[in-house]
Parts: sequence; C-alpha cells; structure tokens
Amino acid sequence: MLSLSKIIDSGNPCLIGVDVGGTNLRVGVVTKHGVVWEQRVQADFAAFCRDHPPDAALDFILDTLSGAIQEPRARYPQACAVGIGFPGFIDPATHMVTQSPNMPGLLDVDLVTPLSRVLNLPVLVENDALAAGYGEYIADNCDAAGMIYIGLGTGVGGSVILDGKPYPGAHGVSMEIGHLIVDPGGRLCGCGNRGCLEQYASASGIALTYAELAGDNGLDSALIAVFARDGDVNAIEAYRRGGAVLAQGLASILKVLDVPQVVVGGGVSQSWILMKETFDARLQQDLIPALRGRVQVRTSQADDQAGIIGAAMLAFARMH
Ligand SMILES: [Zn+2]
Repeated sequence: MLSLSKIIDSGNPCLIGVDVGGTNLRVGVVTKHGVVWEQRVQADFAAFCRDHPPDAALDFILDTLSGAIQEPRARYPQACAVGIGFPGFIDPATHMVTQSPNMPGLLDVDLVTPLSRVLNLPVLVENDALAAGYGEYIADNCDAAGMIYIGLGTGVGGSVILDGKPYPGAHGVSMEIGHLIVDPGGRLCGCGNRGCLEQYASASGIALTYAELAGDNGLDSALIAVFARDGDVNAIEAYRRGGAVLAQGLASILKVLDVPQVVVGGGVSQSWILMKETFDARLQQDLIPALRGRVQVRTSQADDQAGIIGAAMLAFARMH
C-alpha cells in the first residue's frame, strides 16, 4: 500500500523519478497517486564507460539522462523536481558521484549542475539502492521504525532507513553490503578484496557458483533458476549458497543496526523461493537469541517502481 499521501500532505506536487539500472533507465512521473507515467530507455552506461574515455562517457550519460527526461518534462509541465537514483557513491553534501565501481573513469563528476541547467528544474542525484530502499519504505506505508533494503542484481547493493530517513553515511558508502567479506581468501571481487558477499549472492555470483559446480560457464542467473526449478542439483545448490551467504552478511548487520524489517529486491529476488530455505536457516543460526524470529524479511512489494518513487520522493524531501 503506497503511502505517498502521508508524505505529500500539502498541495499536489508532480515529480520526475529516474532509476539508472544496469542496461536501461526507468523514468517515471510520481504524484501522490503513485507512478502515473513511466517509460524505459535502453542505456548501458557501464559498457560505454569501459569503451570510452571519461569525458566522452560523462557526455553520453548527461545526454542520455536529459534526453530521457525531456518527454515527461513536456507531458507534465507542472513537474517541480527531478530525482535520479544512480549506481555509485554519492557525496551526501555535494551530491557529486565520487565513484561508480561499474563505471571506471567516472570519478568526482557533477551530474546535478548540467542537468538542472538543461532541464531548468531542481535535480537531485542519490545512490540507486538508497532511492530503491526509500521507495520500498514508502510502499510499505512508512510504519517500521527502521528498514534495511538489499538489492540483488548484477551486484548487491543496500541501504538503511532509520527513523523514517534514509541514511547515506558520512561518505555516501553506508550499507555497501555487497562488499562485506563472507569468505576470507575467497573469490576476487571488483573492489580488490576477496570473498565479498556479492561474489556469491548476486546474479553474477550465482552464475560463478554454478560454473564452479557444473563446469558450465557463461550461463545467466535467470536461466540457472529455470534449471533449478527443473531439479538441476548444481543450479539448486548455487541459489542455496547465495541464500546462506546473504543471511551470513545480514545477520552481522542486524546485530549492529537492529531494525525490525528487511526488504529484498532486485532481479534475483524473483527467484527468492530458491534461496529462502538456506537464508532462513542461516539467519536464525547466526543471529543472537534476542533477535531470532523478531526480524521480518520480505521481498519487494513495489516491483520495479521502488527506485523511481524513492528518487522522486528524495528530491521532494530535499525541497522541504
Ligand atoms: Zn568487493
């Protein structure tokens, strides 16, 4: 149940939210009634960044974003702000993208100033998992005292809402759950360490486990999920290991943050049924008795609109 009207208590503002994903952007118009218009634009920023120098990559990103926002801007001239959820570390003070692990070369870039100039609207850039977590929190009626969001996609991202507010951390790096080390000396991660959670619990991590077990490289996690449902023992084990490793990392975080609710979203969460049994068992095992059975874990309710809603509502909150 969306509780946008709980937050938008005066007037009827209209906001544009953008969720920058791995291979596409989702752009939506958000009012107190929810997402009233939405479109997808194909864009693989990470691939472009790998193949082009940083200046060209930044131009491409800015052109793609402003192009994608032009249509809702024209359709909804009353739109009063734009919020963008972007994969990377966002400085909480300046909202510059300090680093984006999947977009090499993109360091300390300002997307806000050029976009707000071109669009003639206030623009806010936030971390994509922070936006998705806040969107989930709103979709769940904002009742929990605190909530952890975990996004299982190509990598693993996360965010935390404390006392109703998303907490980005001093450097915009809070809840980088994907890089918790769960297997010291394990698989080499893009961050430079070994044995990070996302090497086992993300789409690519599940594919790596399957490749190790079955000797069949290059299959994607969605196909492995199909194999698992058909009874392939290696595919089943790849998801079961992902679930256990995720619980291992989450139990440590819950002992620090003690929030009552955890939401699992992202593409891999569609196969949650394959991870749930080992996840539940390992979570209960690793939690301290005071927390066992007292943390509610559920999958996303906002489907793929959480990122749009969260980004738009963070832009709205910034204006007030
Ligand atoms: Zn890592």
